[in-house]
Parts: sequence; structure tokens; C-alpha cells
Amino acid sequence: MQFTRLRLNGFKSFVDQTDLSIHPGLTGVVGPNGCGKSNLLEALRWVMGENRASAMRGSGMDDVIFAGTDSRSARHYAEVTLQVDNSNRLAPAAFNDADTLDIVRRITRDAGSVYRINGKEVRARDVQMLFADASTGAHSPALVRQGQISELISAKPKARRRILEEAAGISGLYARRHDAELR
Ligand code: ATP
Ligand code: MG
Repeated sequence: MQFTRLRLNGFKSFVDQTDLSIHPGLTGVVGPNGCGKSNLLEALRWVMGENRASAMRGSGMDDVIFAGTDSRSARHYAEVTLQVDNSNRLAPAAFNDADTLDIVRRITRDAGSVYRINGKEVRARDVQMLFADASTGAHSPALVRQGQISELISAKPKARRRILEEAAGISGLYARRHDAELR
């Protein structure tokens, strides 16, 4: 699944709308300390359905909303759009008639998140499942946080096994089995 564009609006330090084109191959993001490199990766994780504030380095989910500076007032919402190429038709049937998918997550202060895929409102679960089989997703082992390598080395065997299962692409099956057992 090829990501083609990431758009941020009011997300953490990205107060003004920022568009990043993502081309095939390697993309590097460079910049001084504190310029927002990690925030970009968190935006990617967040739009794919991350629900742990700790993974966003915050204490609550509203902490992803631009909090204001001396010269700019705080925003009341944050929105991230991830555009993916679906020309190989990997998306689930419900969204699989389009060449590109725009996945949007918007959070409004004190009112939680709303997700849309190509304009249609969907559940967080739909977005999480869209990415769960594509070796991407909010919990993908492909997203490596700062400091995560040293955590991995000292991880307990069970936690390490979960990471290996995700890397092997079978965690989507577990999520679906869990869903089936709840029904
Ligand atoms: P390093 O090279 O040190 O890893 P980085 O480029 O990864 O730095 P980030 O951690 O992405 O930098 O960005 C940190 C900046 O984002 C800080 O200046 C912090 O104040 C700002 N920031 C984080 N959350 C918010 C928010 N909700 N509102 C405004 N600014 C925020
Ligand atoms: Mg960083």
C-alpha cells in the first residue's frame, strides 16, 4: 500500500495546513531538534487509528491539537489526511472502487475523533482494519519510535512475539478472530 500524501492541519506543531507528497522509494525528513520530525510520524500513526495517547507522547488525545504559542492561539481541532494509492485494489470491498483513498481523522477538543474514507464517515475500527493486513497500521513494526530499539532489546518474550506476528502480517487475522468471538 503506497502512501502518496500526508496533510496536517492543526496537528501538534503543524498549525497551518501542511502537505507532504510521498513518492515511491525512500523519503528523508531532516531538520533541527524540535522542528516536528517525530510529530510527522505520529500524524501517520494517528490517522491510521492510534488510540493510545502515550504513543503520541501526550497525556490525553486532545494533546495532539495545536496548543498555541505566544503569537498563535490554540486550535480547537486537528485533522490529518492520508492519501493512499489503491490502484492495485487492496482495500476492503466497501472502499475498493476508487483508485485513491483519502483517510481523514479529525479530533475536536472534548468531542473525540471522527474518521472518514473518501468522504464517507466510518468507524475507527474500519480504518484500523484497512491497514491491519497491509503491514502498515498504527501498531506496525515498520514505524519505529525514537528509543524503541532499546525497548525492543529489553522486551519480555510475549511482547517480542507480538511484534514478530505483526511483522509476519498475521495480526489482522487475530483482530478479526477477536471481533468474531465478541459477536
Ligand atoms: P528531535 O530531533 O529532537 O527528535 P523532532 O524534529 O522529532 O526533534 P518533534 O518532537 O516532532 O521534533 O517536535 C517537538 C515540537 O512539537 C516541540 O517544539 C513541541 O512544543 C511541539 N509540539 C508538540 N505538541 C504540540 C502541540 N499540541 N501544540 C503545539 N506544539 C506542539
Ligand atoms: Mg524526534
